[in-house]
Amino acid sequence: MEIVMLGAPGTGKGTVGKMLSKEFNIPHISSGEIFRSYSQKHDKLAEKIKSYIDKGNLVPDDLTIELVEKRLNEKDALNGFILDGFPRTVAQGEKLHEILTAQERAINIVVYLDLPDEEIIDRIVKRRTCPNPECREIYNLEFKPPKQEGICDICGTPLIIRDDDNEETVKQRLKTYHETSEELVDYYKKQALLYTVKLNKESNVTTMGLSEEIRSYFE
Ligand code: AMP
Repeated sequence: MEIVMLGAPGTGKGTVGKMLSKEFNIPHISSGEIFRSYSQKHDKLAEKIKSYIDKGNLVPDDLTIELVEKRLNEKDALNGFILDGFPRTVAQGEKLHEILTAQERAINIVVYLDLPDEEIIDRIVKRRTCPNPECREIYNLEFKPPKQEGICDICGTPLIIRDDDNEETVKQRLKTYHETSEELVDYYKKQALLYTVKLNKESNVTTMGLSEEIRSYFE
């Protein structure tokens, strides 16, 4: 099962992706997490990656494709994956198609989470993340608060606010999304792969309900 999560930053791709990963027993692969963990290293490439992330800009396609392709070729991903944050450009989408075709695979569904920008900013500012690389659970102070304030329910690690989850960087990330990633919506619509979920305060879609909905789509 090959699932792509599409949508602006802060729409819940990570949260839903992790849930689907447990549900279907296939890995949740987040390009943002790949970059965040690489950026902890102490080399020139790590510094370069961090500077793109901190400015809210995209890491260049060639480097992104190289790192994601390596992860997709790992054994656990060969039976399927939930891809979150990749592709983010049409060039990345085309490359993903190429990689999967060479392995005689194809994307089954692209889940597009659609949320208005104002609500995105509000959600991201309330986001808290577990920095433990083995866990990386995502919380929201309003929708999904941790049981104990500031502590991850799963592994007990103190939660952090991601460096790029401040209002100024979020606005740049949204701008980048509208300029370069939004065209993927049309790209996948034309391939009849797009499954759109309208999220807003009124729609009342919960993460749990959404994972359930996607599961029944496959049945
Ligand atoms: P995310 O965790 O998906 O919000 O990604 C955090 C940051 O990592 C983004 O703002 C980009 O700087 C970088 N990034 C993640 N995925 C990609 C991608 N597919 N292409 C380029 N840059 C990416």
